[in-house]
Amino acid sequence: MAYDPDNIFAKILRREIPNKTVYEDEFALAFHDIHPQAPVHVLVIPKGAYVSMDDFSRTASPAELQGFFAAVGAVARQLGIDRTGYRMLANHGADSHQEVPHFHVHLVGGGPLGSLLTKRG
Ligand code: AMP
Repeated sequence: MAYDPDNIFAKILRREIPNKTVYEDEFALAFHDIHPQAPVHVLVIPKGAYVSMDDFSRTASPAELQGFFAAVGAVARQLGIDRTGYRMLANHGADSHQEVPHFHVHLVGGGPLGSLLTKRG
């Protein structure tokens, strides 16, 4: 799947639409999810143009891979959910119902979380 430069997270990276930023560095931007599904629900996205985890893990450089996942951990610590617990999740492709075709990790926490998977049609 080719990267769509008009996806909503690409527009956020270009500052064409607003976001509630919680963290930014050379490799990653983290911001609050617009429809939070837990008391803390933050999205962490790479600065590069990657469709999903599959694309990112295949084609990102070692520096991007290292920098991005280090940023995910740093965001969790900044939010304080490293102390109470959190879940990180990334959807890839149709079966996962990935909505936005720019790789993103969901960081959720801030209270007890439900079961990992909820089956839906
Ligand atoms: P996914 O289903 O894994 O692709 O998740 C996409 C996530 O992006 C959903 O949780 C949405 O609520 C979130 N989202 C969509 N648009 C925005 C936006 N403009 N700002 C922040 N979060 C957004």
